[in-house]
Amino acid sequence: MSSSPSIFTRIVQGEIPCHRVLESPAVLAFLDINPLAPGHTLVIPKREVARLDDLRPEEVAEVACAVATLAPRILAAVGTRDYNVLQNNGPASGQEVPHVHFHIIPRRAGDGLGFRWKPQASAPEALADLAARIAGA
Ligand code: AMP
Repeated sequence: MSSSPSIFTRIVQGEIPCHRVLESPAVLAFLDINPLAPGHTLVIPKREVARLDDLRPEEVAEVACAVATLAPRILAAVGTRDYNVLQNNGPASGQEVPHVHFHIIPRRAGDGLGFRWKPQASAPEALADLAARIAGA
């Protein structure tokens, strides 16, 4: 954990209020204070680490289970079926709060949120080389 507790740790500790939707010994979920859509929810591990790859495997599993459990409940509450799960790591990705969190963002046709994917063509050899490097071959 960094020297000053994250805003999410302060929520976990009850120092800052939140609209809690799920809690277990290791996980907390609450509504995003500035939602991209009604029902926009954050799911966090209570233990403060900045990045997904800093978590222990069992923590990853617990947070992922909470995301999958909560999603249909959120969708039922706001009356839609589709959603994005977003999880940012590091400033270049858009992460503002350095405490792991998964966004669950309900979506509906015409909601205007859009996507900012800009796919780029890649040579098959480059893909093969990269895959081999990642796989450690
Ligand atoms: P990120 O850009 O992935 O780090 O997202 C941080 C999210 O935390 C944003 O969507 C904020 O609206 C949300 N957020 C920041 N402070 C609070 C808070 N006190 N309660 C609930 N959500 C918050």
